[in-house]
Amino acid sequence: MSDCIFCKIARGELGALIYEDEKVAAFRDVKPMAKVHILIVPKEHIPCIDECEDGALLGHMLLTARKLAKREGISESGYRLMINCREDGGQTVMHLHLHLIGGEKICWGPI
Ligand code: AMP
Repeated sequence: MSDCIFCKIARGELGALIYEDEKVAAFRDVKPMAKVHILIVPKEHIPCIDECEDGALLGHMLLTARKLAKREGISESGYRLMINCREDGGQTVMHLHLHLIGGEKICWGPI
């Protein structure tokens, strides 16, 4: 989608990607909640997880997060994976994204 900020980032038109393959792109969150805060997004524009029927893509996003956690050196210490959905879920950017957060202790509960 031409005016979607995460589409622009995923296409390499804005900011810096730290990972990409044929299905997904990853980049650092502009307002990190912890020392490591990466967003993994599908290259295809999908507004939110509730509108995604592609289980292979969702699995690929999870495995990509695991791979990036290893690359960032936080696999052993641990990390959190999070997907917010729509207003009550706290989603602010309407392009499906998986948060990978770690590098320090994260409190449990709504953030
Ligand atoms: P959510 O609240 O789950 O929709 O998360 C959206 C995330 O995108 C927030 O953590 C924002 O800080 C982050 N964000 C918004 N705009 C950008 C951007 N241009 N580059 C990187 N991260 C962004």
